[in-house]
Amino acid sequence: MESIKCIGCGIAIQTTDKTAEGFAPPSSLEKEDVICQRCFKLRNYNELQPVSLSGDDFLAILNGIGEKDGLIVKVVDIFDFNGSWINGLHRFVGKKDILLIGNKSDILPKSINPKRVTNWMKAEAAKLGLKPIDVLLVSAVKGTGMSEALDAIETYRKGKDVYVVGCTNVGKSTFINRIIKDATGVQDVITTSYFPGTTLDVVEIPLDDGKSLMDTPGIINDHQIAHDLDAKDLKLITPKKELKPKVYQLNAEQTLFIGGLARFDFIAGDRSSFNIYVANGLPLHRTKLENADELYLNHLGDMLSPPSAASLEKLPPLVRHEFSIKEAKTDVVISGLGWITIQHADVQVAVHAPKGVNVIIRPSLI
Ligand code: GDP
Repeated sequence: MESIKCIGCGIAIQTTDKTAEGFAPPSSLEKEDVICQRCFKLRNYNELQPVSLSGDDFLAILNGIGEKDGLIVKVVDIFDFNGSWINGLHRFVGKKDILLIGNKSDILPKSINPKRVTNWMKAEAAKLGLKPIDVLLVSAVKGTGMSEALDAIETYRKGKDVYVVGCTNVGKSTFINRIIKDATGVQDVITTSYFPGTTLDVVEIPLDDGKSLMDTPGIINDHQIAHDLDAKDLKLITPKKELKPKVYQLNAEQTLFIGGLARFDFIAGDRSSFNIYVANGLPLHRTKLENADELYLNHLGDMLSPPSAASLEKLPPLVRHEFSIKEAKTDVVISGLGWITIQHADVQVAVHAPKGVNVIIRPSLI
């Protein structure tokens, strides 16, 4: 198998894992020229397949971009902001402008003011060392905000190339595919090129003035909860529609389990209401704080699921994060899973989330 390479991108062909790099159906091996599924779709349908990179390849891509001149468009998942952050990007960008695009706006409750979301994204980006030239929200799936995003790219690129970067699963392929579809007339001229030192190619989409918009491979971020789960569980935790809050009246010393993936302890404070924003089908389970450890030990994977029994082995142990909430209307955000709005001031809470998954507080978006 090692000796067969894709004629499109040069990657080693494999026939076992459809979702991994270099996949080609077994029947294609009978042909003289073998092309991987990703290149096949790109050539025949102008459709990108998500690809992913990690480690040295990822650094090589960042280095490659660092040496070029142009605008960087960074796509993040607003539901998994920290999990979809590319750590270290700011070290490579030099003086280049960065346009930050928050995708999946369609799952935000309609009552949220988009400006509060973009302000929050700006503040978080600044904490992580990045000062974007602008922050926009889009829904790549629904098309909302896409023409504004394209206008912004046109303005900020100032006649230069554009590099689109993002972690896996943020919806970067959906975003680029929409750009390709909307920019009719360029269908036959999509090409691919390499950054030296990487195995995967960069897809170049020509722009009107001879410059290009480059789609770089998705980067794997180990902090994404997505990597801790199997495909079925991932589907369960991924919101597909506008989030509807579930409202719980809790007394101090009560615990709420979000499946078996996270646990919210209300430690101290007056009886209060808590709004839970997670994927609509994700089961919640209330118990006494004093029983929570035992319940988790005995029922993880059955009553407390997801994780399903199949994901159990992959799931890292839970880590406890304690917060003293001073202000009324504060969100506790569990990256990739959702958030809990705490209505009252002066409460003590703790969140247990899988190791590596970021838990933060922010002023409520609503
Ligand atoms: P990539 O790995 O960044 O290229 O991501 P994909 O484009 O493959 O999308 C990852 C997942 O996010 C898929 O399940 C998409 O259906 C979903 N997705 C992408 N864009 C959106 C969006 O605008 N809204 C919602 N709700 N889901 C999206």
